[in-house]
Amino acid sequence: MGPLVSLSENIGTGRLVDRFGRVHDYLRISVTDRCNLRCLYCMPAEGVQFMDSGRLMTDEEIVRVVRVAARLGVRRLRITGGEPLVRPGIDRLIEALGAIPGIEDMAMTTNGVLLARRAERLRRAGLRRINISIDSLRPDRFAVITRGGDLSRVLEGLKAAERAGMSPIKINVVLLKGFNEDEIDDFLRLSIEKPYVVRFIEYMPIGHEDETWKNAYLPLRRVLDRCEELGYEIEPVQVPGNGPAENWRIRGGLGAFGLIHPVSEHFCAACNRLRLTADGYLKPCLYWQEEFNVRRCGGDEKAIEELFFRALDIKPERHEMAEALEGKSRSHTPTVRRMSQIGG
Ligand code: SAM
Ligand code: SF4
Repeated sequence: MGPLVSLSENIGTGRLVDRFGRVHDYLRISVTDRCNLRCLYCMPAEGVQFMDSGRLMTDEEIVRVVRVAARLGVRRLRITGGEPLVRPGIDRLIEALGAIPGIEDMAMTTNGVLLARRAERLRRAGLRRINISIDSLRPDRFAVITRGGDLSRVLEGLKAAERAGMSPIKINVVLLKGFNEDEIDDFLRLSIEKPYVVRFIEYMPIGHEDETWKNAYLPLRRVLDRCEELGYEIEPVQVPGNGPAENWRIRGGLGAFGLIHPVSEHFCAACNRLRLTADGYLKPCLYWQEEFNVRRCGGDEKAIEELFFRALDIKPERHEMAEALEGKSRSHTPTVRRMSQIGG
């Protein structure tokens, strides 16, 4: 870890370096908090209050923030939500973001329900990479985890993304004890048979550190144990992307699998990301409550720039999800936003 750098040293350098020497070149943008699914680990079953459309950042506002971010060294974007494909005109927004000087890479995370008819248009708008969330390959179980989702539509979306030439295609699987842990073998097999990157993700306590989380949380060590039990030879591989995943290939497989284990083994030392919520708050860390209202700056790009530095200046060294699991007290206050409001 580098020496501590203060806000005043950073302003004017044109680089997003925080107090711990971490360079930030990656922005995750939630374009809506709305969703056409209600995944168990992401949203409550009922009583979700979605933002009025007036509270959502407009295309123009998002483009302005990204223009400033790109001047400060942000090179990569991820479009997420809520479900990004329910935002009207999402392909126009993607096209506008991709045209901003400095932006080199853009990807999207989607539940895939609306992807079949949109993949081609999104690809033409400049989206080259996509992550599709599929927590179960069994239709009945998929419907339970997503509270009503239709797996066949998501699989159609997956095929359409492939046909449109998106690559690599990543499949996000949140592993949940007692729900889908018995599908680890099926997902590993999928990474052998198809050129997908299956990313196993630990269930995180974002906006809810309750018993549901503690009971369903599963450390990802389980996946490597299964590889050993199944006699798979695995080797580390590099996969294009910006994330903290540790990636492996099963020898002879067409694809790969990744492990994202924020709770059992945090990767904060290598954190390169900031987040923008759908209502225009800049979040230095997914876990903590601190956030900065970008919309207050109006069209003043200098003020937005300063906000980026303020966000970096208070970014804590790490999250404390593991402490939450052990019931220990935390150094700051965790966010009350749910994942659907931050974007993952
Ligand atoms: N609706 C899109 C989707 O589901 O892919 C994008 C938004 S979703 C919030 C982004 C990612 O966060 C998804 O892969 C989802 O599975 C994951 N996610 C949501 N809540 C989570 C939680 N509590 N712990 C870990 N991952 C979570
Ligand atoms: Fe919607 Fe994605 Fe959250 Fe599932 S994980 S409820 S699809 S935002």
